[in-house]
This record gives sequence, structure tokens and C-alpha cells, in this order.
Amino acid sequence: MKAIMYHYVRPDNHSIPYFRHLHVDNFVKQLDYFENEFGFISRMDFQECISLAEPIKGVVLTFDDGFKDHYQYVLPELLKRDLFGIFYIPTSPFITGKLIDVHRIHMLIGKYGGNTISDAMQRILTKDMLSLERVKEFQSETYSRQNNDSSTNYVKRMLNYFIDYRYRENVIDRLMSDFYPKESDLIHDFYMTKSELKHMHNSGMVLGSHTVNHPVMSKLSIEYQEREVVQSFDMLESIIGKSTIKTFCYPYGGFHTFTSQTERLLEKNGCHFSFNVESRDINQEDLANRRQALPRFDCNEFPHGSSMEYRSGPRE
Ligand SMILES: [Zn+2]
Repeated sequence: MKAIMYHYVRPDNHSIPYFRHLHVDNFVKQLDYFENEFGFISRMDFQECISLAEPIKGVVLTFDDGFKDHYQYVLPELLKRDLFGIFYIPTSPFITGKLIDVHRIHMLIGKYGGNTISDAMQRILTKDMLSLERVKEFQSETYSRQNNDSSTNYVKRMLNYFIDYRYRENVIDRLMSDFYPKESDLIHDFYMTKSELKHMHNSGMVLGSHTVNHPVMSKLSIEYQEREVVQSFDMLESIIGKSTIKTFCYPYGGFHTFTSQTERLLEKNGCHFSFNVESRDINQEDLANRRQALPRFDCNEFPHGSSMEYRSGPRE
């Protein structure tokens, strides 16, 4: 069986011309494609697959980051087709009232383009703000499969991976105050509200944890990782109540973004399964022996997801 990962799904918006997203029309076409090619797995069958560790043929849809897009454009389409989806929610926006840093970067680049933001970032960044021992490790791993222009790549690599976490928020704060002086206005249209999450849950969708602050987990101590996991599940439960499925997905994804300690931590906290990003089907071995790192395809690996056809969704 196949799990597919989506991020932004929306129509074009000319006020953010460089913003990368899957156009909702192509999302609909891709659902038709999956339906014809593989079929979809129902929520009940999926739960059975997990508990019996027996995969079946078909597709499961997952949506990361708690975007308003998922309520506005995805939910109606799934309900029309009698499908369920798994939605991974980072919970810090409910606490801070701010966009998560990775999304602030998308909005900065989306409106002004990689070159402008890269220039502005270079005026702020100094070498002592980078954690250099990670540079080599991440250089080969991150963003190697994207068609981003090089400035966009550079900004994302610096701000998501190479910058020391002590300086990251401050650097992004400075960029935001220059380019989006009224950041607080953005949040209402950006994420689902608590009542929208509740509505998703009541409509048969599965809501899972995507941490509190959307960090690269492997950059954190195991104690800090545990806080990210426990607090996000607690917040979710306070919003939607107890769920029959307890699931997690790693921010950014890829084997470099978590460790075996992270997997054990999720297991210990009663998580039924977690998603990584890895381009292959979920097999029996995964479900039996490694359910805290299930593989998941990016939507842009399938028809109607090619960046030749449209600007494809980013992998964060
Ligand atoms: Zn994410």
C-alpha cells in the first residue's frame, strides 16, 4: 500500500506569485488517477492493516502542517468521494499566535522570491550563527530533489538546517518585520482553527501530531524531543478529545530528521504508527517491525504532481 504526502493544496494567489503549492484542480485530477490506478483504503481497513501488520493494496492520503487549505479545499473533496485523510498538526500556532518558522520562510519566498530574501538574509546572518558540524551531513540530504531556484534552496538550507537554533527565530523575526509588518493578520487564513479541527475529526478524518514547534527532531536532545511529542498530543486531545488512532509524522521527514531514540520514544508514548518520507510502498515488514518510520511518497512523484505541469508542493 502507498501513503501519499501533501502540503499546500489551493488555487493560485497572485499576491504571492512565487508560492509553491499543488493547485486544487490538479489535486482533484490526482485523486482520480489514484482511484483508477490503485484504489483508496478505507479508514476501517487501514486501522485493520495497522493492527494486524498486514498491508493491502490501495492508497492512504496524508496532509501535513494543519493548513487552512486542508479545511477549505481538501476536506470537501474527500467527503464528496467518501474518503478519509490523515492530517498532521503542529500545535505551536495555538500557543504563540505566530506562524511556524518554516511557513514564514514559505511566505517570505512566496511573495518576494528567493533572490530578494536571500540577499536580505545574507545581510543579517553571520558565520557564528551556523552550526558548522551539521553542514556536511545535511548538504547531501536536503532539498536535493527539488526544482527550486538556487536562491530559494540556499535560504531554506540555511534557515531550516544550518543555522543554530538559538539564532533562527530571531533571524526570521527580522526578515518578517521587514517584509510582513502585519504578520498577525496572516495566521487566520493560514492554519485551521480549533473548531475547524474539531469539525475535521467529527467528519471522520484522522488528526495526528506533527510536534509543537516543527523542529528537525534529530537536532534536539531526547528530553526536548519528548516534550515536543507529549505536549503536541496533549494539545490535540484537548481540542478533539481522545482519538482511536494515535499517529505522528516527522517534521521535514527523511532519515536524517530523527533517530532510533526518537522511534523508541514514539513507541513508548503509545503512538500506533509514524510517517517518514521515503519513496516506496509500505510493506509487511514495515508494519511488523518498523511502524514508527513508515515510508511515504511525495505527491509530486505521481502524475499531475510534476513540476512541469504546475508548481508542485514543497517538501518543507
Ligand atoms: Zn511539516
